[in-house]
Amino acid sequence: MTAARCFKHGEVVQDAVAVGAIERMTGPPFMVYACAPCIETHRILLLDDHPADSVGNVRYRRGERETTSTS
Ligand SMILES: [Zn+2]
Repeated sequence: MTAARCFKHGEVVQDAVAVGAIERMTGPPFMVYACAPCIETHRILLLDDHPADSVGNVRYRRGERETTSTS
């Protein structure tokens, strides 16, 4: 388990799950975490389930709006 701030509701939770890893110019990727309730509610795709071509942006399961940035 990881204690981290849920990016959805903004509070630190004890059961945070990695849902994104934003690449940065320097240093390690910026990890994005969410709590289980938010993952369920917002249908967030776990980082472990990202496709191989994922760049680390937060993704949502089919049926929800995609947030893949093309910029
Ligand atoms: Zn949350």
